[in-house]
Amino acid sequence: MTANAPFDLLLAGAGHAHLGVLRLWRAGQRPAGRIALVSEGPYAWYSGMLPGLLAGRYRPQQCRIALAPLCAAAGVEFLQGRLLGLDAASNSVSLENAQRYAARWLSLNLGSQPQAPATTDISLALLPVKPFAAFLQGWSEWQQAPQALAILGGGAAGVELALALGRQVPQLTLLSNSPLLNGHPPALRRRALRHLAAAGVQVMEGVAVDAIQGDSLLADGHSVWRGGRVILATGASALPWLRESGLDTDARGFVRIGPTLQSLSHPHVFAVGDCASLPATPRSGVYAVRQGPLLAANLAAALASQPLQKYQPQRQALALLADGQGGALLSWAGLTAEGKWLGRWKDRLDRRFMALHGAES
Ligand SMILES: Cc1cc2nc3c(=O)[nH]c(=O)nc-3n(C[C@H](O)[C@H](O)[C@H](O)COP(=O)(O)OP(=O)(O)OC[C@H]3O[C@@H](n4cnc5c(N)ncnc54)[C@H](O)[C@@H]3O)c2cc1C
Repeated sequence: MTANAPFDLLLAGAGHAHLGVLRLWRAGQRPAGRIALVSEGPYAWYSGMLPGLLAGRYRPQQCRIALAPLCAAAGVEFLQGRLLGLDAASNSVSLENAQRYAARWLSLNLGSQPQAPATTDISLALLPVKPFAAFLQGWSEWQQAPQALAILGGGAAGVELALALGRQVPQLTLLSNSPLLNGHPPALRRRALRHLAAAGVQVMEGVAVDAIQGDSLLADGHSVWRGGRVILATGASALPWLRESGLDTDARGFVRIGPTLQSLSHPHVFAVGDCASLPATPRSGVYAVRQGPLLAANLAAALASQPLQKYQPQRQALALLADGQGGALLSWAGLTAEGKWLGRWKDRLDRRFMALHGAES
């Protein structure tokens, strides 16, 4: 393990909020001090455009942000490597490549990973939707010889993936442990079911897959699907090593933070987006993006020993789900709608977001 000279601030993970921070610093708001970003890959992939990429509507270059140029423009050192651990007592992180970095302040925007059911002697191939780079690589290999597959997870991600992929494989089954799109208005579920039927997707709702054995998905000990390929788009689970970091985590392993976005146990650590646990703050890109400007302000204040601001989560968030055919389904404040015009609107919003960070248009 190699220890390096400490940083003033280390940004861990190129999540949505850190991208916003880098963008503000690029525009001239960078605080003084030695600052670095650690990311496992050279790009930050944008989940909002992933279904469109899979449906063949975008090129990869339009859906990812190159981190080295963004960091250079923001005056931040870019360190590429996968984090394997964090030691809250010494405010340091360790990487897969055996490097170790300590910092006066840490900021975590590491996202989450899909929850995997228990597996025994599995003979089917499992492909988690995150990390995106590995998912895209795995998917392109699968598509050399398309086969029937199942998607586990009936939330927005699972539905968007099924709509994007349904027409590209001989048979696609979408399994959800609750009604589809639980938490959204029932009308959104009905709209989604119609689009899924048109794409030839078989939907199984209220089926809680809790184990995978051989080539079978099991719910309560019974086989509910058999086959060779399964995509995991289940709800967010925490990166396992966060629980061992010494940081206060909730029962599911997410870092508990307060309104200033600081760890409840270690105020020198900030955490935002999916990896953090804060009441009334759902895990979605929309919330992580909104945390960016406040995080930037609070990191600058922390470095200058100034008072910090409090984050107030928005009450409503707009959801726009790609329908796989260039349109979109909308859910906002109990209302739903669908149409090609919503697809064009989503496309404009997504491209604008990416252009702000220097992605190809
Ligand atoms: C198919 C799909 C579609 C979605 N569509 C939407 C949508 O339209 N709108 C929406 O609001 N939400 C959407 N989501 C949810 C959204 O992706 C997440 O809630 C959001 O990405 C969380 O953002 P974040 O900033 O916390 O982290 P992320 O954007 O996930 O970023 C985390 C970063 O940390 C890096 N990282 C992770 N682990 C390590 C490690 N060990 N070492 C180094 N780096 C690491 C990752 O590479 C990544 O760059 C979608 C999800 C999926 C799967």
